[in-house]
Amino acid sequence: MARYAMVIDTKKCVGCMDCVVACKTENNVPEGYNRDWIVQVTTGKYPDVHLEIQSQRCNHCDNTPCVSCCPTGASHVHDVGNVVLVDHDMCIGCKACVAACPYDARFIHPEGYADKCTFCIHRVEKGEDPACVSVCPTHCMHFGDLDDPESEVSKLLASRKYHTLLPEAGTKPRIFYLI
Ligand code: SF4
Ligand code: SF4
Ligand code: SF4
Repeated sequence: MARYAMVIDTKKCVGCMDCVVACKTENNVPEGYNRDWIVQVTTGKYPDVHLEIQSQRCNHCDNTPCVSCCPTGASHVHDVGNVVLVDHDMCIGCKACVAACPYDARFIHPEGYADKCTFCIHRVEKGEDPACVSVCPTHCMHFGDLDDPESEVSKLLASRKYHTLLPEAGTKPRIFYLI
């Protein structure tokens, strides 16, 4: 069993938003909504200022408040790669998962179901990378199995410093930002 994760090298990300456009196109994300987005984080004080550009999306967390709060079982952990998904037909649009996600990663699709990043599982099951990863012009995004020590993501995390978003939320996110 794989446990899919994304490792993003913030030293190489230029904020071009190609990942955002690719996701919208690949997943037919409706106007006004996003499954991924760019955040610029500035830390430090002049002249020692550091800018980090983060391509953000659902973190496909190991601990999932969005799944445990769902009254219908629509929000679930998929048996392929432990990817967190929503079964559109089972979803009643109650928004419990939208409120439970500390990353604001979910929205209610105009058709009435909760929606978010799927790690492009439809592509991954065909052996392809998620759309965002496949278009990134600087190749700063990497996708693979965290439980395979030989995977590119595992090797990057073993050799580089990184952080995750809101670790204090206790969700154990699986999007890692190399620093
Ligand atoms: Fe950064 Fe790559 Fe996304 Fe461009 S496509 S914003 S370089 S992660
Ligand atoms: Fe759930 Fe939010 Fe974690 Fe995604 S980022 S798995 S929606 S808690
Ligand atoms: Fe579950 Fe849908 Fe309600 Fe989210 S909006 S908690 S997926 S029924």
